[in-house]
Amino acid sequence: GSGYSLMRDPRYNKGLAFTEKERDAHYLRGLLPPVVLSQELQEKKMMNLIRQYEVPLHRYIAMVGLQETNERLFYRLLIDNVEELLPVVYTPTVGEACQKYGSIFKHSQGLYISLKEKGKILETLKNWPERTVQVIVVTDGERILGLGDLGCQGMGIPVGKLALYTALGGVRPSLCLPITIDVGTNNEKLLNDEFYIGLRQKRATGKEYDELLQEFMYAVKQNYGEKVLIQFEDFANHNAFELLARYSSSHLVFNDDIQGTAAVVLAGLLSALRLLGGTLADHTFLFLGAGEAGTGIADLIALEISEQNGKPIEENRKNIWLVDSKGLIVSSRKESLQDFKKPWAHEHEPITGLINAVKAIKPTVLIGTSGVGKQFTKEIVEDMASFNKTPLIMALSNPTSQAECTAEEAYTWSEGRAIFASGSPFDPFEYEGKTFVPGQANNAYIFPGFGLGVIMAGSIRVHNGMLLAASKALASQVAEEHYEKGMIYPPLTNIRKISANIAAKVAAKAYELGLASHLPQPEDLVESAEKCMYSPVYRSYL
Ligand code: NAP
Ligand code: MN
Repeated sequence: GSGYSLMRDPRYNKGLAFTEKERDAHYLRGLLPPVVLSQELQEKKMMNLIRQYEVPLHRYIAMVGLQETNERLFYRLLIDNVEELLPVVYTPTVGEACQKYGSIFKHSQGLYISLKEKGKILETLKNWPERTVQVIVVTDGERILGLGDLGCQGMGIPVGKLALYTALGGVRPSLCLPITIDVGTNNEKLLNDEFYIGLRQKRATGKEYDELLQEFMYAVKQNYGEKVLIQFEDFANHNAFELLARYSSSHLVFNDDIQGTAAVVLAGLLSALRLLGGTLADHTFLFLGAGEAGTGIADLIALEISEQNGKPIEENRKNIWLVDSKGLIVSSRKESLQDFKKPWAHEHEPITGLINAVKAIKPTVLIGTSGVGKQFTKEIVEDMASFNKTPLIMALSNPTSQAECTAEEAYTWSEGRAIFASGSPFDPFEYEGKTFVPGQANNAYIFPGFGLGVIMAGSIRVHNGMLLAASKALASQVAEEHYEKGMIYPPLTNIRKISANIAAKVAAKAYELGLASHLPQPEDLVESAEKCMYSPVYRSYL
């Protein structure tokens, strides 16, 4: 009967919250125990249950289970308990979930496009039950967080990111499509794992890879039109920069690791200026890691400084230095550098070792984007604190195990003077009677609101101006009370309001640039962002 299928469909299921009338109308009598619960009570029960699991992965499995049985309750929980549940469905736990994805796999949660689907990608897309899709998050699993190549098991990332699109940005779940492209994996451990879910072969590269991606990109546009946002996630940098460059003039593409990270970190820097003093141009930046995150952030900082002082971007790059696995990026290395590093090859003698670079450059801001943990040693943090009254230290590598240093280390080694933010969350830390609240410089602040803004405006392209607008909107949400605790990001508890503000500014920029297709432009963009946000409240089926 219809009641039974209603109960079995996660999009419609309410569990024990089906009312007496609904039970009568939809042949649910007897299929449920007599009690009728409110969604509030269901939420309380689920939170109690989840809190009993001490192993983070068990919490993750419980949340996935809920998503697969009662979607609205899943989002109710996520929205009402953002700070507590984000680390469960997102970094750091999602990292472990991807590593063990095959072993915990029960139901498929997205679309898998492997080399087997070559020549049939359009047909494959049509197998997805939703006709209208507005956001695709796609990975090829080659650089999952800081965990490396997890092949097909990277699917946890698009699924988790899209859950945040809905919970944090209010994009309806039916409009979200997680996709994993499987071209193989070079991860021996997975290739030998009997429960591995992907193709058991080494990664395809070169022409074979490019052709599959091109077929995919064309098929997406053909199937869903011009206005579907394609978010690239956790591709290795040897593909990420090229894919973004290749498709940004024909598709609505956004690379979260390059652009989203850049926008969230720039927001933190703009807001930190209230504590550090000066303008961006007065600061000296040193990055450990010159990949997607590092060069993406560096580019956006230089762009923002140019908007502020009107000088050419080449000029403004000079106070921004990057260290990669071979040492400081300097002009004598230029010939051998990948293209995305070349703009950062400044005149300087070669230096190896981060500590030596810190001593030579004397940065005011130190940013870790290497994916390698524990690189900000005691000596480095002490050095930062010796030539800065208030050193700004960002340990962005995920998950927690890869963080360049912990909150505790940053605060104690700098004797309570550092401003610290990290990619994965750290608990507040007490140092000499004062409580410091570390900021989470996480993309989750930006991409959900950014995507919502793009969708609202019906933008057909992503433009750097929209990234700058998102950064400024986020920075403007930090209040005096937050600064007092050393925070440079607003608390995630208000994230829906923050996302609405970001969406409004991004949409406004799209209109200004003539990229918006939803006309006329709404008068109050914040209000219209809030209005179109998905609500997890149960609907009545009468
Ligand atoms: P990526 O493109 O692979 O870049 C990594 C960079 O780190 C490369 O330049 C690499 O040098 C360098 N590196 C690796 N080991 C090093 C070492 N021992 N010493 C110095 N440099 C080293 O990766 P990505 O996309 O930028 O991501 C890097 C990390 O940032 C990951 O852990 C990721 O989770 C994190 N991340 C965090 C956020 C956030 O929200 N906080 C956002 C995006 C990324 P070579 O170029 O010489 O190989
Ligand atoms: Mn990512």
